[in-house]
Amino acid sequence: GSVDVECDMLVLGAGPGGYSAAFRAADLGLKTVIVERYATLGGVCLNVGCIPSKALLHVAAVIDEAEHMASAGIRFAKPEVDIDALRAHKDKVVGKLTAGLAGMAKGRKVEVVRGYGQFLDANHVEVELTSGSGQDKTGEKKVVRFGQCIVAAGSAAVHLPFIPKDPRIVDSTGALELRTSDGKAPAKMLVIGGGIIGLEMATVYSTLGTRVDVVEMLDALMQGPDRDAVKVWEKQNAQRFDNIMLKTKTVAVEAKDDGLWVTFEGADGGKSAPAGPQRYDMILQAAGRSPNGSKIGAEKAGITVTERGFIPVDAQMRTNVPHIFAIGDIVGNPMLAHKAVHEGHVAAEVAAGETQGKSELARSAFDATVIPSVAYTHPEVAWVGFTEEQAKREGRKVETAKFPWAASGRAIANGADYGFTKLIFDAETHRVIGGAIVGPSAGDMIGEVCLAIEMGADAVDIGKTIHPHPTLGETIGLAGEVAHGSCTDIP
Ligand code: FAD
Repeated sequence: GSVDVECDMLVLGAGPGGYSAAFRAADLGLKTVIVERYATLGGVCLNVGCIPSKALLHVAAVIDEAEHMASAGIRFAKPEVDIDALRAHKDKVVGKLTAGLAGMAKGRKVEVVRGYGQFLDANHVEVELTSGSGQDKTGEKKVVRFGQCIVAAGSAAVHLPFIPKDPRIVDSTGALELRTSDGKAPAKMLVIGGGIIGLEMATVYSTLGTRVDVVEMLDALMQGPDRDAVKVWEKQNAQRFDNIMLKTKTVAVEAKDDGLWVTFEGADGGKSAPAGPQRYDMILQAAGRSPNGSKIGAEKAGITVTERGFIPVDAQMRTNVPHIFAIGDIVGNPMLAHKAVHEGHVAAEVAAGETQGKSELARSAFDATVIPSVAYTHPEVAWVGFTEEQAKREGRKVETAKFPWAASGRAIANGADYGFTKLIFDAETHRVIGGAIVGPSAGDMIGEVCLAIEMGADAVDIGKTIHPHPTLGETIGLAGEVAHGSCTDIP
C-alpha cells in the first residue's frame, strides 16, 4: 500500500509516557509523529485519570476542611453542590493542560495523526482516522512509515464479565463524568475494588453527599503500604463510608428499574457479606486495569506480548524488536504516570542516541531505585521503597523511625495530629531504603524520602538537615532524628 506519512520516530499513544517520549525525541532532532485516537493529548492521566480526579479531590478536601473548622469555632453553612458547574470546573482544569500539550507539540513540529493505530509490520502502522470528541471512526485510513517506534498505548479499566451494561454502572472514566439525571449525586453507590482509584472516587462521591459502600476481595484495603499507615486512614474514614466489605466477592449484579441489585459472597462462608441482594443507584468498577498490548496488532510487527497483554522490555525500554520500544502502563506495574514519563525519556534518548551516534544518549537506561505511590484520599497516604512488611518477607534487616504528628506543632495547628512520618532504614548501614507518610500533603512530602533513597542518604543525614519550622515537612527531619536517637520533640 501507499505511505501517507514518513517519520524517524512514531509514538503510539499520547499519555504521559507517549507525549514525554515524543517531545524528548523531537528535542533531540528526530522527526516525530504521534498516533492518538483521542481528540486531545494527555492520555488517561490528563483526560480521565490523575488530573480530573485531583480537581475533584481538592474540592472534596475543601468541603471536609470547612466541616472540621466547626471545632475551631468557625461554622459554615452546608455546601450547595452544583454538579454541572463542578463538572465544568474539572473540564476547564483538564482543558488548560491538554491545550498546553497541543501547543508544546506544535512548537516542536510533532505531527499528530488522529486515529486508532495498528501495526502492519515492523515499520508501518495503519491508522483508522477518528474525529469528534470521542473515537468515532471517519472511515478513512492513513499509513505511517517509521524508522523507530515507541509503543505507549497504556491500559484500560477491567470490566468484570458478569456485570451488565447499564448507564448506572461506570468505570473510573464514567465516575469522573459526574453524570446525573436530577442534578444530584447518586444516593447510594457501590465501589467494587478497594485500591487507590476506587478509594479516591469513593472519597469524592461521599463528600458530594453519596452514601458509599466499598467491596474488596482481598483482606485489606489499599494493598501496598504498611498496615500502620492504612490503619490511620481507616480510623479517619470510619464515618465516611457506610459499609466496607473485605474478603467479599461481588457475584451478581442485576440492573432493574428500581435500582442495581448486587449479591455478595463472603470468603469466610458468607458471615461478613450482607445476606440477599443490596440496592444501589450507581456502581463503580475499580477492580484494576489491564494493559492494551493485545489490541495494537503487535504480532504483525513481531513484538512479544504476554498473555495478560504486557509488552516485555529491557532496561532501555526496548522490546524484542530492537527498533521498537515500549513504555508506561503497557510494560508493567506500577501503573503510574511518573513512571511512564521517566521511561518515555529513556526510550527517546536511546533511540536518538543510536540514530545520531550520540553514545552518551544511547547508554541511557531506566534505573529507578524507587517509584513512589500516593493515594490522594483524605488523609493522603504516600509510600516509597521498602515497606516493613516487604523487608520482613525478604529477610532484610531493617530499623524504623516513626515521628507521630501528635508531636508536630504544625500538624496540631492544622488539625492533622493523627498522621505520622516513618523512615525505614538498613539496620547496618543506616541507609534509608523506604518511607511512608500519612496525613494531608503526604504526597507532596514523600519526594524528599525518594531523594534520600536515590542519593544513598542515611537516616542521620535527614535528621541533621535543617527543615523549616513549623511545617509538616519538618516531620521527615524529625523522623531522621528519631532514627539517630537524638529527637527531643517527642516524650
Ligand atoms: P495512557 O495514559 O493510558 O495513554 C495511552 C494513550 O494511548 C491513550 O490516550 C489512548 O487513547 C492511546 N491509545 C491506546 N491504543 C491506541 C491505539 N491503538 N491507537 C491510538 N491511540 C491509542 N497515576 C499517577 O501517577 N498519579 C495519579 O494520581 C493517578 N491517578 C489516576 C486516576 C485514575 C482514575 C486512573 C484511571 C489512573 C490514574 N493514574 C494515576 C494512572 C495513570 O493515569 C497512568 O499510569 C498513566 O496515564 C499511564 O500513562 P501511559 O502513557 O502509559 O498511557
